[in-house]
Amino acid sequence: MSKYWSDFVHQLEPYVPGEQPKMSKLVKLNTNEHPLGPSPKVLEVIRGEADERLRLYPDPDSSQLKDAIAAYYSEKGYGVTREQVFVGNGSDEVLAHLFLGFFKQDKPLLFPDITYSFYKVYCGLYQIDYEPVPLDGDLAIAVDDYLKPNGGIIFPNPNAPTGRLLPLAEIERLLQANTESLVVVDEAYIDFAEKKSGGESAISLVNQYPNLLVTQTLSKSRSLAGLRIGLAVGDAALIDGLNRIKDSFNSYPLDRIAIAAGAAAFEDVEWFEKGCELVISQRDWLNGQLTQRGFDNLPSAANFIFTRHPQHSGESLAKGLREQGVIVRHFGKPARIADHLRITVGTPEQNQALIAALDTLL
Ligand SMILES: *Cc1c(COP(=O)(O)O)cnc(C)c1O
Repeated sequence: MSKYWSDFVHQLEPYVPGEQPKMSKLVKLNTNEHPLGPSPKVLEVIRGEADERLRLYPDPDSSQLKDAIAAYYSEKGYGVTREQVFVGNGSDEVLAHLFLGFFKQDKPLLFPDITYSFYKVYCGLYQIDYEPVPLDGDLAIAVDDYLKPNGGIIFPNPNAPTGRLLPLAEIERLLQANTESLVVVDEAYIDFAEKKSGGESAISLVNQYPNLLVTQTLSKSRSLAGLRIGLAVGDAALIDGLNRIKDSFNSYPLDRIAIAAGAAAFEDVEWFEKGCELVISQRDWLNGQLTQRGFDNLPSAANFIFTRHPQHSGESLAKGLREQGVIVRHFGKPARIADHLRITVGTPEQNQALIAALDTLL
């Protein structure tokens, strides 16, 4: 605290990121990072970019990356053009810009009461009025609860920290009913959702709904959390609005290395798909192991499992795991999730270490 702070800075309630411990050798299952390293092709591109060209400013439009994203989704049949893509320094920055640009309205922004806690932080930062919408009894998003006057709607799909998926058909039902305000689907984890359970990116709907904006990140399914790349796809007019904000804040949110590496990450489809398959199969294994030990897991379409044990408090389990070098995320509030742990799906070895550590505690 300092007397030089403005009153505004005093009243901010910043986001608290999961711990990035300095000790190595920990089994780190607390911040939903990918268990494998990034694609070797991405690493090669990064090395190739590290030369005298770093003297120059990067492309302010990140065209190479936008083209790779548009090509990837067009290949899937979604018909995305470069003008429909926005990129930023992590999807957190993309979210910050869109909160500022689109959600400051005379009606409240709606988002789930249990969700990504950064949404509330941006509302504080930009003085946006919001109304939390309670998840239903199964900790799922119920679309009908959002059918009321609002200045915008945002939710992650799959939701965080629950991991629960809202099927694409439900998102479309919301878009059909809610035409007057922007709907943002934060797809940080969509690549881990299986198509057979209704998990498909809402990017497939952007050409039909001009009020839909979909955000994604390269931090989770493309294993590049350390590089900070996020994106949004939507109607070109929405993207234009985001560009106006970006160019009023920082013209170069992505450096030369991130632009080239991000493009390479979208191009290496094989590495990406294999990585997602590993996470999904390990998630199935972990689900089975936890269930056998009496845990009550929510169905997860993400790279983490949200779970509780009826006989043990979340706090005691998190503490006991930590003492054995395994870190998971325990939020502690609100009361409805006080005993839940959010466990990132790790490598087979990490997941086995987690289970072994739990066996000493149960
Ligand atoms: C991880 C995460 C983000 C942030 O991603 P970055 O691109 O690393 O900033 C956004 N939304 C949700 C729901 C997340 O879990």
